[in-house]
Amino acid sequence: MEKILTIQDLHVSFVTYGGEVQAVRGVNLHLNQGETLAIVGESGCGKSVTANSIMRLIPSPPGKITHGTITFKQKDLTRLPTKQIRKIRGVDISMIFQDPMTALNPTLTIGNQLTEGLKQHQSISSKEAQQKALDMLHLVGIPNPMERMKQYPHQFSGGMRQRIVIAMALICEPELLIADEPTTALDVTIQAQILQLFKKIQSETGVSIILITHDLGVVAKIADRIAVMYAGKIIETGNRREIFHHPQHPYTQGLLNSVPRLDRKGRKLVPIDGTPPDLFSPPAGCPFTARCPQAMEVCSKIYPFHSELSDTHEVDCWLQDERAKKYRKINT
Ligand code: SF4
Ligand code: MG
Repeated sequence: MEKILTIQDLHVSFVTYGGEVQAVRGVNLHLNQGETLAIVGESGCGKSVTANSIMRLIPSPPGKITHGTITFKQKDLTRLPTKQIRKIRGVDISMIFQDPMTALNPTLTIGNQLTEGLKQHQSISSKEAQQKALDMLHLVGIPNPMERMKQYPHQFSGGMRQRIVIAMALICEPELLIADEPTTALDVTIQAQILQLFKKIQSETGVSIILITHDLGVVAKIADRIAVMYAGKIIETGNRREIFHHPQHPYTQGLLNSVPRLDRKGRKLVPIDGTPPDLFSPPAGCPFTARCPQAMEVCSKIYPFHSELSDTHEVDCWLQDERAKKYRKINT
C-alpha cells in the first residue's frame, strides 16, 4: 500500500512561564492511501498537536516543532516555506474542527463561502465554481442545494453546518482530510450520520483521512487503523481488530475497559485510576508506569523498546520484550 504521509520522530514543545511543555515526544506514524487512521487518547495526550503540526498550525511562539520530519508527496512539511504551506492547505490537505461555526463566516452565504475557497486556489469560472459547489452540497447530503446556497450559516442546524464545513474542506479535492473531533459538538444521532458521511465520501473520492478523537465509539465505526497516544507518545498502533480484540498495551486495555461496548454487554466498566504525567518534566521510563497494574521495576527507569507484533500491530511496552524478563518483578 502506498504511503501518503509519513511522520518521523516528531517532537513539539510549548514554552510557557512554568517551563517547556513537551507535548509531542517522538511520534512515528504513517497513513496509507485511501485509509482512515484514527489517533485516540485522553485530552492533552498530544493528538491535536500532532495533527496541527501536519498543517503547520502550531502557534509559534509559544509552540515549536523541535525535531522530526513530516513527509507528504516527497516534501518535508516541517521545513517548507510558509508560502508553500499555504498552497498545500485546503488544496492538498484540508482540516475540519470540532465547532463548525468557527469555520464558517456568519456574514457570507453558503454559496459564496464554497465558491470563494475554490476560486482562491483554482482558475475557474463563476459558473463552474457554482456547479462544483452544488455537487459538493449534494455529496454531503444537503437537500435543495440550489436554494440553500443563498442562505447564511445561522439558517442551518448544527449537523447541517458540519456537513457544509465538510463540503468546504472537500471542494478542492484534497488527498488528505484531517478531522479533529468532528462529531464531538453534535448530538448522538447526528454524530452517526456524519460518520456515515465520512465513509461515503471516502468510498466516492478515495480521500485519505486522519481522525482525531477521544471517543472509541467513533473509532470503532470508521477507522481502518488506530494509533493510541499517551503522554505525547504513540504507545500502540494496529488495525481495528488488533486494537479492539487483541490490545496489548495496558493503557489501551484500560481505555477499552472504561467505555461501554455493544460486544461486551454486562461487563463492568473500570475507569483508569490516576492521571497522566506532567509533561513539563516527563518521566524517563514508560509514562504509564504510575497507573499501570502490570508495571515492573524496569518500566519507571527505561522507556520500552518498540515491538512489532504483526505487519500492522506495534506496541511500546516492556511486557512484549524478552529483555524485560529479568526485571519481571511487580512493583507493588
Ligand atoms: Fe505497564 Fe511497564 Fe508496559 Fe508501561 S512498559 S505499560 S508500565 S508494563
Ligand atoms: Mg484536541
